[in-house]
This record gives sequence, C-alpha cells and structure tokens, in this order.
Amino acid sequence: MNREELINSHYWEHKTLEEMSDDEWELLCDGCGHCCLTKLIDEDTDELIYTNVACNLLDLESCSCSNYMNRHTFEPDCIKLDAHLARTLPWLPPTCAYRRIAEHKPLPFWHPLLAGDKRKMNRYAKSVKGKVVHERNRGEWEEHIVVWKL
Ligand code: SF4
Ligand code: SF4
Repeated sequence: MNREELINSHYWEHKTLEEMSDDEWELLCDGCGHCCLTKLIDEDTDELIYTNVACNLLDLESCSCSNYMNRHTFEPDCIKLDAHLARTLPWLPPTCAYRRIAEHKPLPFWHPLLAGDKRKMNRYAKSVKGKVVHERNRGEWEEHIVVWKL
C-alpha cells in the first residue's frame, strides 16, 4: 500500500503497535516534537521536570528531526521508540500517538493522519512550534522549566 492507501485504511484503529509495519509506524508520529525536548530529574525528589530545551537537530519550524536517518551519529542519546517504550516511558506526552494507541485511545481529531496536515495541531498548540529553544542556545536550566498544557 502506498502512503495514501495506508492513511485511508485507518490502520491505527485496528492494529496494535506490534502489528504495524515500519511505514505504518513512522506515519503514526504526529511530529509534535515533545519527545525531542530535554527532561530533568530532581535529585532530591526524583520528580520529572519538563523543559523547553530542544535537541539541536530538531527543526524548530517543522518540529521534525533535521537528520532523522543519521541522527544517532550526532545525537547518540536519541531514543528509538518502540512498542515497549511507548507503553512504559513516563514522559511521553498524553497526546503522543504511540502512547495513545498503547493505551487503546483514539487519535485526537487534530492528528495529521485525520486532519490531513499539521495546521490543525499547530492551531491547537499541540506541537512545540514557537515554544522552544535549541540546546546550544539555552541559558541556565532554571530559566527553561515549563509545564506543558496538552
Ligand atoms: S511525542 Fe510521540 S507523536 Fe510526538 S513527536 Fe514524539 S513520538 Fe511523535
Ligand atoms: S536526534 Fe532528531 S529525533 Fe532524536 S531527539 Fe534530536 S531531533 Fe529528536
């Protein structure tokens, strides 16, 4: 199936993450960019702290990786999300399509697979567009702590 046929099949409504092909898996990502932001752990409380500091490879306009195929050469800590991680990573946003499918939840109406492109998700402020800075431009961590409202 080509991309259009895959989208028209609404495969995410009847396949588990494990059952998805590589193409189906990649299409599922909404490109919000939230998984490309640094998270911190409070040493005293173990609390998870979110920041507005983005990986240097994140394209801040499109919110997608600027060198996805070779990303581990430049960012060796970049995770490769899989079904197990989608079920267990505590910091994936509640909007993350992989997390939602893992939790048997539908995709949100603004997801590009349903809306056709990213305009609706940007209108509803679901991506990090316009809200983050690159790691290379950050100041003190205290200046970058945020609570994302998703
Ligand atoms: S948080 Fe999930 S949906 Fe958003 S970019 Fe990351 S993997 Fe894709
Ligand atoms: S290397 Fe690419 S996919 Fe990985 S965190 Fe950075 S921008 Fe995101």
